[in-house]
Amino acid sequence: MINFAMDTNQRKPFELPGAKPNYNPHRPGQVQHILLDLKLNLEQKSFQGICRITLLPIRPGVNQLILDAVNLQIDRVLIKNISQSFDYDGEKLTIYLLQALGQEAIDLDIHYHVHQPQRGLYFIAPDEYYPQKATQVWTQGEDEDSRYWFPCFDYPGQLATSEIRLEIPKPYKAISNGTLIQIEDKGQTQIFHWLQEQIHPTYLMTLAVGDFAELQAPNCSIPILYYVEKGREADAWRSMGKTPQMMDFFAETFGYPYPYPKYAQVCVEDFIFSGMENTSTTLLMDYYLLDERAALDNRNTESLVAHELAHQWFGDLVVIKHWSHAWIKEGMASYAEILWTEFADNQEEAAYYLLGEARNYLEEDRSRYRRPMVTHVYREPIELYDRHLYEKGACVYHMIRAILGDELFTKAIHTFVQDHAHQTVETIDLLRSIEKATGFNLLWLFNQYVYRGGHPDYQVSYSWEADSSLAKLTVRQTQAKPDSNYEELFDLTLPVAFNFLQGQEITRKVLNLSIKEREQTFYFPLDRKPDFISFDVGNAFLKTVELDYPLPELKAQLQFDPDPIARIHSAIALAKKGGMGVIQCFQEQLKNETFWAVRVEIAEQFANIKLEQSAWALIEILKTEEHPKVRKAILQSLSQFKILPAYETLKSCLEKGEASYYTEAEVARGLGAIIGSLLKDKEAKVISLLEQVLTNRAGWNEVVRCGAIAGLSQLKTSSSAAQIIAQYTELGVPQPLRLAAIRALGPVSTGQSPEQLTAILERLTAIAQETFFLTEVAVITALSKMETPQAINILQTLANQTPDGRARRLAEEAIAKVQSKLGAEKSLQELREVVEQLKQENQELKSRLTKLEAQA
Ligand SMILES: [Zn+2]
Repeated sequence: MINFAMDTNQRKPFELPGAKPNYNPHRPGQVQHILLDLKLNLEQKSFQGICRITLLPIRPGVNQLILDAVNLQIDRVLIKNISQSFDYDGEKLTIYLLQALGQEAIDLDIHYHVHQPQRGLYFIAPDEYYPQKATQVWTQGEDEDSRYWFPCFDYPGQLATSEIRLEIPKPYKAISNGTLIQIEDKGQTQIFHWLQEQIHPTYLMTLAVGDFAELQAPNCSIPILYYVEKGREADAWRSMGKTPQMMDFFAETFGYPYPYPKYAQVCVEDFIFSGMENTSTTLLMDYYLLDERAALDNRNTESLVAHELAHQWFGDLVVIKHWSHAWIKEGMASYAEILWTEFADNQEEAAYYLLGEARNYLEEDRSRYRRPMVTHVYREPIELYDRHLYEKGACVYHMIRAILGDELFTKAIHTFVQDHAHQTVETIDLLRSIEKATGFNLLWLFNQYVYRGGHPDYQVSYSWEADSSLAKLTVRQTQAKPDSNYEELFDLTLPVAFNFLQGQEITRKVLNLSIKEREQTFYFPLDRKPDFISFDVGNAFLKTVELDYPLPELKAQLQFDPDPIARIHSAIALAKKGGMGVIQCFQEQLKNETFWAVRVEIAEQFANIKLEQSAWALIEILKTEEHPKVRKAILQSLSQFKILPAYETLKSCLEKGEASYYTEAEVARGLGAIIGSLLKDKEAKVISLLEQVLTNRAGWNEVVRCGAIAGLSQLKTSSSAAQIIAQYTELGVPQPLRLAAIRALGPVSTGQSPEQLTAILERLTAIAQETFFLTEVAVITALSKMETPQAINILQTLANQTPDGRARRLAEEAIAKVQSKLGAEKSLQELREVVEQLKQENQELKSRLTKLEAQA
């Protein structure tokens, strides 16, 4: 949901100061039902009403109940119309029961009202800057924010049925969990009455109010509904139209029919997550609604729709007992994106998707922190919602599948869902279901990947010993010894294949290797020299791998390995070797390779071969390449060669325009990035081109204009670039563009004059007063890129004041980052500049040498 772009290689501990073990509280009883009877006042941004909690005692003699309730105005508490005394400190509501609990269930009626809530329930309305903004109300409960809109036992261990009666003015609609049982006409207002008859936790209770268009997918046994602002109906069909097929697919995949009476997806403005899987009523951020051009190469929306739908089983039907086990649901919802991709597209697309998930996790592990996936030590549960939870979780599910095989994996998942439907689960329940369904005990896998942090980093060397006809394979685990006391080495059995080519035909000899030592060398007697080697055939295991193979084997693998991920690994290894031979091989392969993603990776690797010939090859390929994502990768690589032909190519692409918004944005960004010492004279031209983009290319989610802002942010010594960016941080600028401009103030600040830097800091200080979550994140991102102690002050204030745990954590991490940059000696910076200069000169010399050699 948030992208952390931290570029320092400094892993910090996950636990921030103040982190402590968290447990579910003791249950005073079992909540059976929650009824909210509320009346909304949209103009006042307030609501009032009754929360009735039906509680069945578990043990007798309980005479005090403590509920979570934050910043509510509690008017009175009644049981059977008899007032109960209570204390309320703004966070906990303590009720002193006149009569201690006996055997019978009680109805606890809490009368309360709320004015301008800060969390939990959000009022969206037009204002002087954004007069077109829709009037909406929506809620966000996960993780512990339902307590901001109704009093409750707010943790996922309590499951209850629920019911919401909501009075709102006409013409607004209210959408909530379960079935709409009645709409009551009250003249100026209407009461929408929703009933959720299957038990679920408080964090999944929801409300969405707006003057929405309501669309219903045709011919579905379960009603599937899409709600969007009027005028976006076509975008709704385009973006969510595959939901019925997905529902069938997941019902089969999880071995359980869709469990609720309807499935609604409501697209709301200013949503603070991408999507939220409230029971039977998912809320989605409206940015995800695609127009026709965005649909060309945007996969995120389809993945988001799949992700939230999969949660209806993993998360809503089978509920985690405690946040520490949230990977069970987030890992599976993320893996469901891959399963859906495999079903709707093909295996190659799914494999590349999985690689992307693994890389996202690896980036977090490298640059932020390493933690066990299951941990109950944190300050706020939202801190757990990171790339360990989602992406590593998906990778763990894939490993389970690879170990069990497809058939047994399906059986295990079916067993898990069927045995735990309408119940809460912990990680151990998943292990036990796997064991029950398949006989396999996967504790060894969980111990290495789930209950402790990290993954193996392999270095694999191969050589052929012709005299003895032996293949020699050396595998090293290069991961550093961890700071805590767990075992750092991984003990896994990985398949390795020796591949023999006969024309285009491949025969392979696959062997399983037990890899558990720091370094192991294996010898394999073979009839003849293999053409290439595949380590971890299928690449199912989460790892990093560095291949140290001879050049011919790497080239053969890039060309022939049936696994696209193996081809990608070989492209990376080839780029490390570098040279003209590799450039030619890449050029050839870009023509032959049928899978776009491998072409993307090859295009990216060109940038790592620091020869001008790489740039020329990229320019040549660009002429015939049509896939928008490959074009984007080519253009991005090209922008790293700060030479005139690369500049001219980018400029002409920007002038002509690209089919895809994202590619066009990359061109704009690249034009800023390409300005270095050699092309300094082009800076004014680039600024004027990017200004034209900002003036003329408004459009869907402002993707292209955000690219222009990103381009300007690269021009760190240009005060006019900084000034243009600052203009777009004003209120009234479309939100995505404004957020991009706020973020861009960070990178552009680092080369500015003291006066300009002061102006930027003042601007960020002013924006930091705004409490909207996405604005806070943009400000933090900007400040984290700055190199001045004043940035720390603004971050500290923001960390102290924000009501959002995610923003607080990000601000604190940003402070540490700025501090470490400031701590680094200034001479280091100067040294870096010298090295950069030398690299540039070296590249030119090498390029000339290569050319001379070619001529000779
Ligand atoms: Zn999720």
